[in-house]
Amino acid sequence: MNAPLTAAVRPAPLDLPVVAEPAWVADFPILARPVRNRRLAYLDNGATTQKPQAVIQALADFYEQSNANIHRGVHWLSQHATDLYEQARSRVAGLLNAPDSDDVIFVRGTTEAINLVAQTWGQTLGPGDEILVTEMEHHSNIVPWQLLCARTGAILRHARITDAGELDLDDFRACLGPRTRLVAIAHVSNALGTVNPVAELIQLAHEAGALVLVDGAQAVAHDTVDVQALGCDFYAFSGHKIYGPTGIGALYVRASILQGLPPWQGGGDMIHTVSFAGSTWAEGPQRFEAGTPNIAGATALGAAIEYVRGIGLPVIARHESALLAEATERLCELPGVRLVGTARHKTGVLSFLVDGIHPHDLGTILDTEGVAIRAGHHCAMPLMTRLGIPGTARASFALYNTRADIDALVAGVRKAQKLFGV
Ligand code: PMP
Repeated sequence: MNAPLTAAVRPAPLDLPVVAEPAWVADFPILARPVRNRRLAYLDNGATTQKPQAVIQALADFYEQSNANIHRGVHWLSQHATDLYEQARSRVAGLLNAPDSDDVIFVRGTTEAINLVAQTWGQTLGPGDEILVTEMEHHSNIVPWQLLCARTGAILRHARITDAGELDLDDFRACLGPRTRLVAIAHVSNALGTVNPVAELIQLAHEAGALVLVDGAQAVAHDTVDVQALGCDFYAFSGHKIYGPTGIGALYVRASILQGLPPWQGGGDMIHTVSFAGSTWAEGPQRFEAGTPNIAGATALGAAIEYVRGIGLPVIARHESALLAEATERLCELPGVRLVGTARHKTGVLSFLVDGIHPHDLGTILDTEGVAIRAGHHCAMPLMTRLGIPGTARASFALYNTRADIDALVAGVRKAQKLFGV
């Protein structure tokens, strides 16, 4: 007869995928630096991701070999820099499966992308028109709409979530109406990890005659995104959350909408002609890219996209879901740990509370162990209000995280519990 299994030799449950040791950890130089004399366990990827050598090199290469201003130059370097910038636009289009690279506007990040939509397309709104968001949105998918409503008399509505942190579909349907002009939703919640059923939500919104903006800040690095399959009208993301530099991101706009959008910032590069009698605007995405853009950043974002696609988003998704499953199981084994956000479909994010320890204290103790997590409201104060908590501790995963990071997280939480005597 087989000996009974002890906890020490208990195999992983059949449905718990095994966390692999990814070869690509070595591509990220910062992961080799000790922090507080400990091995760094970087679990703050929802805030920003670390950069692979290929991206760091692309930034340096740009300034070493290719630096010039774009679009206006007749000289070789300017044309070369322009080619790199436009190649990066094609790479973004490829990442999102946008029909054409002209559907992609470079911006500073998700926040700027959403403000761009609010200030351009938003000009079509009038009193009584409605914008629908959800209770789980990041502030950058709430505040630009509040500002727009204050300017236009439009109304901001929000669909409720369930206690598990899933969107309440019945409430979402009930909030849609003849005055709904735009639905603005997170693809993935940064605070809960919930993956929203965006294809279904987009269909419902379109049936109600509304356009849809998807905030993809927490989605693009974690799984394949296809704007054509989703059918969305706007899709926004930040380069720094997909292993690219800060200060660069992209907004996909459906071509038929982009053609009719008025400019938002005036200056060089966004014009066709300028005279004191008036100016005319450039066609395509350039109309929204006034002034010298972040050329080096765009080029390095292109390198980040190549890097991620080289590994393969389905491979990354599998690795991260194994991490999430194991971290969830192991944290839940600890007494006094409560998960916040238990949606059936989650990615990348594990929010939790530990009885008797404030999330900030937990974050500080974990930091002494070299474990970087985030604590607080995660720029989602309405969500925290809905959940009746001031904030959570959040571990968020990326392609380079390993079982050693989960070990460090669990050991750090145990240490905090000992220190606090809970
Ligand atoms: N939306 C979501 C869901 C996010 O997680 C973030 C960043 N935390 C943003 C928007 C804003 O992104 P950025 O600060 O890069 O503009």
